[in-house]
Amino acid sequence: MLTRSPIKYCKNCGTAVVYRVPDDGDTRERAVCPACQTIHYENPLNVVGTVPVLGDRVLLCKRNIEPRWGKWTLPAGFMELGETTAEGAARETDEEAGAQYEIGELFTVMNVPRVGQVHLFYHARLLSDVFAPGHETLEARLFTEDEIPWDEIAFRTVRETLEHFFADRRRGHFGVHAVNIL
Ligand SMILES: [Zn+2]
Repeated sequence: MLTRSPIKYCKNCGTAVVYRVPDDGDTRERAVCPACQTIHYENPLNVVGTVPVLGDRVLLCKRNIEPRWGKWTLPAGFMELGETTAEGAARETDEEAGAQYEIGELFTVMNVPRVGQVHLFYHARLLSDVFAPGHETLEARLFTEDEIPWDEIAFRTVRETLEHFFADRRRGHFGVHAVNIL
């Protein structure tokens, strides 16, 4: 059901773990260490990003990393410890696009239980059309709605966020969208 790789070794003592339901009233299988009894809990990860906009155009980044090398994405990546969701979204926008921008409000929250992830995208208002993409990006460029390469979008969360963005803009009102991608 979940595609993340299973834990193999105890983080505490290095012994090979076994997956079983712990004896403490838990109901799920966990990676339990048979030597030191450490229980390794695995929980969803947050992916944070932005929808950077300049006038009627949206910034997309062409991926220089797997998975989906060469496909287009919004700037986004895994949240780091010690930062807020908005700080993580801003950091990813810096790292992947080297863009000048002001970060805005939360726009989409997308649950992807199949891979144990929650993706959060924030609005961002670009201050310049000059970008300095990092090593994870082949190219950063602006697209009007008509120019968006819909068949070349790297991830469904990005595609659906873009669809909500253009639909809201046509309506003249941006909401917050909570979406389950099953
Ligand atoms: Zn152990």
